[in-house]
Amino acid sequence: MAESKPLQGSVGPMVDPFGRSIDYLRVSVTDRCDFRCTYCMSEHMTFMPKQDLLTLEELARLCSAFIEKGVKRIRLTGGEPLVRKNIMFLVERLGERIGRGLNELTLTTNGSQLARYAKELYAAGVRRINVSLDTLDPDRFRAITRWGDFDKVMSGISAAQDAGLKIKLNTVALKDFNESEIPSMIRFAHGRGMDLTLIETMPMGEIEEDRTDQYLPLSQLRTRLESEFSLKDLPFRTGGPARYVEVLETGGKLGFITPMTHNFCESCNRVRLTCSGTLYMCLGQEDAADLRSVLRASDEDDLLFKAIDEAILRKPKGHDFIIDRQHRRPAVGRHMSVTGG
Ligand code: SAM
Ligand code: SF4
Repeated sequence: MAESKPLQGSVGPMVDPFGRSIDYLRVSVTDRCDFRCTYCMSEHMTFMPKQDLLTLEELARLCSAFIEKGVKRIRLTGGEPLVRKNIMFLVERLGERIGRGLNELTLTTNGSQLARYAKELYAAGVRRINVSLDTLDPDRFRAITRWGDFDKVMSGISAAQDAGLKIKLNTVALKDFNESEIPSMIRFAHGRGMDLTLIETMPMGEIEEDRTDQYLPLSQLRTRLESEFSLKDLPFRTGGPARYVEVLETGGKLGFITPMTHNFCESCNRVRLTCSGTLYMCLGQEDAADLRSVLRASDEDDLLFKAIDEAILRKPKGHDFIIDRQHRRPAVGRHMSVTGG
């Protein structure tokens, strides 16, 4: 718990009680999405009421406050960030901070709107994006996303590459769904100059499926991949949970995000902001700080800095992702789309 002594809000670096420097902010700009991936959302989702949303001006101000507090990298995510109306307003405001406090602005997207936005993203200063893609089979794509259009995503990927954006593909590994396709996805990604990262499903939010049916430990998958590829461990780290190997046959990079089988929280450098101004200090915990009311209480940022300092003092040591097999409940009640991936 935070100490009760009053804090002076100030600019300057954020260091949590475990000595971790926080310099990475992920911002979920909307909890809405044009897909309904079965592991992420239920088909009939209830979204945040529109009046709870921060305006894009407010999100820009909050992000600026975090930059003053030492954030060097911002990733926009969601829901689907590119379905938020007027999203380029925020991208452009943040793009103006690159080289002025911010080192990098990135985006995680399902790719459906990339053909429309790729050039504008590049012009605003975005250089790297993550695109989520779980299969190369159009029918399976439709089944896993429920509403997605595979060809549109493929065109989006091409448009992004043509615009000069470097792409990393994110693939959630799902038991009995895309296990057998992973080798061809590695060849596809690396053949097109994209890295690929595999992700274990995390038990977040109620969905129709049973999480234990979807969960595929990446340790198992890696063993299988090693019968087909030579994987060389790489020292490359991003401060995040991914560990990387080089696939010697393709020369490309393959990442593994294994929150369920390994806990890499000790090097966590990030916090997460939702589109309603709630700050989550950990993806896998419920504790959060309400920055919206603080933001709206004053045009000065002092109170905001103080609230951020107090929140960082509550950053937990690690997540609580344990699938509750007995009650078949998700470990974390909110869906991934609220806090972003
Ligand atoms: N809509 C965008 C997209 O799909 O890239 C951004 C938001 S999405 C929530 C971010 C990432 O989280 C995606 O790569 C998605 O596959 C992943 N994701 C969603 N729910 C997940 C879950 N329960 N476990 C693991 N990854 C999940
Ligand atoms: Fe939408 Fe991304 Fe969740 Fe799929 S993973 S439903 S694209 S937010």
